[in-house]
Amino acid sequence: MGELRPVSALDWRGSDGEPAGALVIRGARVVDPREGVDATHDIVVRDGEIASIEEAGAADAAEAEVIEAEGLTLVPAFFDPHVHLRTPGREDKEDIETGSRAAAAGGFCGIIAMANTDPPVDAAGDVTALREQAREQAAVPTGFVATVTKGMLGEELSEQGDLAAAGAVGLSDDGLPIRSARVMRRALQYQRLVDLPIALHEEDAELSAGGSMHEGEVSAALGIAGIPSISESTMIARDCALAGFEQGRIHVQHLSASESVAAIEAAKAAGVRVTCEATPHHLTLTDEEVRGLDSQFKMNPPLRTEADRQALIEGIRSGAIDCIATDHAPHTSNEKEVPFEQAAMGVIGLETAFAAVYTDLVLPGVLELATVLERLGGGAEPFGLETPRIAPGAEANLTLCDLDAEWEAGAEGWESRSDNSCFSGRRLRGRILITVAAGRVAYRQRSFALGVAA
Ligand SMILES: [Zn+2]
Ligand SMILES: [Zn+2]
Repeated sequence: MGELRPVSALDWRGSDGEPAGALVIRGARVVDPREGVDATHDIVVRDGEIASIEEAGAADAAEAEVIEAEGLTLVPAFFDPHVHLRTPGREDKEDIETGSRAAAAGGFCGIIAMANTDPPVDAAGDVTALREQAREQAAVPTGFVATVTKGMLGEELSEQGDLAAAGAVGLSDDGLPIRSARVMRRALQYQRLVDLPIALHEEDAELSAGGSMHEGEVSAALGIAGIPSISESTMIARDCALAGFEQGRIHVQHLSASESVAAIEAAKAAGVRVTCEATPHHLTLTDEEVRGLDSQFKMNPPLRTEADRQALIEGIRSGAIDCIATDHAPHTSNEKEVPFEQAAMGVIGLETAFAAVYTDLVLPGVLELATVLERLGGGAEPFGLETPRIAPGAEANLTLCDLDAEWEAGAEGWESRSDNSCFSGRRLRGRILITVAAGRVAYRQRSFALGVAA
């Protein structure tokens, strides 16, 4: 992999060349575990970078916007390597503007959009068009992957060289697995020439065919066809073996099962270049939620058992799982408000990611805040981007949150165009107040905006 690029190398409205104004964030508890920082400071942002980290109250605020942040917590902004923006084709669910706004509202300074659109993003011209749109519409830096195979048909490889030249940040047939080991192997051989990471939705379509939820006690009780854990873990094992054999580099998406964590651990121990992610919903919920047949708990991979959830948490703790990604997957209510087995798979997740994990895992003492912050930033590097950090000279990618604020998910609506959240109506702790991407305020929470001195 070449040199890491700053997150702002992705396309967004801030790509317009206008210099970012100066900003002073005063008196926040600044927490960046990677930099070993946890203390009260003033942070000065100039020209898109963190100019200095000073004693609280010491920063010179001349000609800067001042954000009074006493009692609040400032952390490195998050990066989500796995979102669905649904454009082209399904702008009734989401588009670049609404999806990136949801990301900013969730504390994310950058996102990567999947390619399973209608039609799929499988040609250089598609990537170029999306990048142009992002420069007009995206509230935060937005990268685009292109498909591994033409039309996501799993047969013929997309033109990796042309896609890389057009600025695709990676390749993925997400939504579908790559069924053929031969096609997967060829993709890894081409990767040697173009060096784009390949992100994988791991599922053996034969094993999961017809399934709507995790195969286990709950599916048996409900009489619903299940998706077994080995559907995921056997494909992870296959692709790790292929990546090892071809000296390739893969990123495994949305781990859901304990067997999958074990497969990743074994591959990493064997020296395979593999990174992976887990979602907030798989870290906080289990298939017990499905007993009520509420389709907001239907996603692929499915929610699994408590033992699986514990294995994912342990993977986050140990670092076997590199990052938390949302797999933000907007759907219309028409596609969700139908019987469980017919409902579309997927949930939105950008606006609740931090609060869900903070409420269910950090507050009860299951995971350290530091670990969660590291994993929420861990999705940048697998795609060749610098991890957001709070240090002088670093790009200013910052999230200001109120860890004590309690709010009801969805009560004030969503920035996303869709509302299919599995956390709707839940009381959550931890509210994102401001997101700064490359030195620009990309999001400001409404109630907080009133209290900000100009
Ligand atoms: Zn997927
Ligand atoms: Zn996905």
